[in-house]
Amino acid sequence: MAQFTFKPNHKILASEFNSDRVYPCPVCRLGQIEAMPLMDAMACHFCNHIFTLNLDRQEIQLADRQPPLIWRWNGRAWTGAHLQGIDLNWGYKLAAVALVAFPTILIGLAAYIFPPSPGSSLSWFPFAWAVLALLSHLGIVLWLVIEFYQIPVGAYLRAIGQNMQRVVSKT
Ligand SMILES: [Zn+2]
Repeated sequence: MAQFTFKPNHKILASEFNSDRVYPCPVCRLGQIEAMPLMDAMACHFCNHIFTLNLDRQEIQLADRQPPLIWRWNGRAWTGAHLQGIDLNWGYKLAAVALVAFPTILIGLAAYIFPPSPGSSLSWFPFAWAVLALLSHLGIVLWLVIEFYQIPVGAYLRAIGQNMQRVVSKT
């Protein structure tokens, strides 16, 4: 008599991550990752990142950086980019917000409490300084996010440029 194995989670199993299929790239979200021949790895056609696989844990990790960045397949999409052994908790997010908000508020408050005499040639300066502080600190946070998640900004710009060329050549 044939053994009957009951598979209560056959829907989940059907969408299990395996290296035979093609998946969206978790880094650029524009390309697709596909198994590399003769290698236990997958590569993205668009951003050229290479991922190593952990099929038991349904995870892939970005191979070309230390500590590696890891994503887990939930059956439909990649979730939770995280660094191995590092948990990006709310403390980091709070620090990022504080880094942007604190200097801007401080400079803005100083300009508000000690306003420049109206009509003086440099009366615009405190306001411009506050805006500059906001933009520069926002830039630092954005740069850290781009570095951390290895967001391929260059590849995005290339894709936008190619699409623009296509639109222009059609008209
Ligand atoms: Zn990619």
